[in-house]
Amino acid sequence: MGMLIINDKLNRIEPYIVDKTEYSVKLDANESFLNFPQSLKEELMDALMKVLYNRYPDPESEQLCRLYGQYCGVDSKYILAGNGSDEIIQTLMNGFLNCGDAVLTLKPDFSMYKFYASLLGAYVYEYDLDENLTFDLEDFIRVALDEEVKIIIFSTPNNPTGAVVSREHIIKIVEETDALVVVDEAYFEFHGETVVDLITKYENLAVLRTCSKAMGLAAARVGFIIAGESIIRNFKKVKAPYNVNSLSQATASVMLRHPEIIKDNIKQIVKERDYLYQELCKLQQNDSFKVYPTCANFIYIKTERAKELNEALKKQGIAIRCFGESLRINAGSREENLRLIETLSCALKDLK
Ligand SMILES: *Cc1c(COP(=O)(O)O)cnc(C)c1O
Repeated sequence: MGMLIINDKLNRIEPYIVDKTEYSVKLDANESFLNFPQSLKEELMDALMKVLYNRYPDPESEQLCRLYGQYCGVDSKYILAGNGSDEIIQTLMNGFLNCGDAVLTLKPDFSMYKFYASLLGAYVYEYDLDENLTFDLEDFIRVALDEEVKIIIFSTPNNPTGAVVSREHIIKIVEETDALVVVDEAYFEFHGETVVDLITKYENLAVLRTCSKAMGLAAARVGFIIAGESIIRNFKKVKAPYNVNSLSQATASVMLRHPEIIKDNIKQIVKERDYLYQELCKLQQNDSFKVYPTCANFIYIKTERAKELNEALKKQGIAIRCFGESLRINAGSREENLRLIETLSCALKDLK
């Protein structure tokens, strides 16, 4: 006795490894390069001093959801907050999936969809994107129907490709299936197109948003689900009661009271993203280093030399993401982007 037996499920899981090396240029996690605005630090301190540290947080994050509602133009009764949209993805699956159910997503897409679904014993169908990072809509819907998929989940703009699924495509998917369709708009701000206006029209549509990317609040862990009455009511049944801590609610609320600052930050990020894209395109070499257009704050590159290039950058203290034969690099400050371009350009020459 006293022996711990690890079950097969746990034995099969590969841990999510975060590279904790200190890099001087970090362009691997799609974070914002802009820290909390200096001009709001006093307001932030005030808000944090008012927190009732001896009390549990507001379980429904009411003030935060009201402010987010103003930000995204939706009544706050259709919004709930989570400990990052990551937690929301897991809660959705906990509630809306049974063991053995099927989930449909894209490949590549955000790895957490498959991770949380598999943890529940769900089967995950990953629909391959083609060379142009698009997919056959009719065939995608056919898979959803044939496999009796319960949840369809994808990001748009897509992480890691930066490509988008059009509004028309999303409407078709929602109308032609009875699956819960989860549209992850984590990078919405860099593109500007949304389907949040459709959540009261379609009861099987849910939209996810986050404060981690455009708002530069990755440290606070705040995300949102925006959906019709039925999804929200059922989501509440399964969510952890005090899932967003009071400090995070206060911090994100301060930011959301200043949409003009958020807007300006997005402008700066998009400007750097465009600069980085233009410079990366200059390094393009036919099919051996292919740079894709993007609607997010990062750029996707296909290259057989992905591993070597990633290693070369690492050695110079620059972190990017490498997946097999592709790379994902998020926009940094101008200084960071210049260092990336210079180092990458040297690495490409060395590999020739
Ligand atoms: C970064 C990211 C998230 C995670 O957001 P959090 O709110 O920080 O948990 C969700 N979805 C996609 C597609 C992302 O890239």
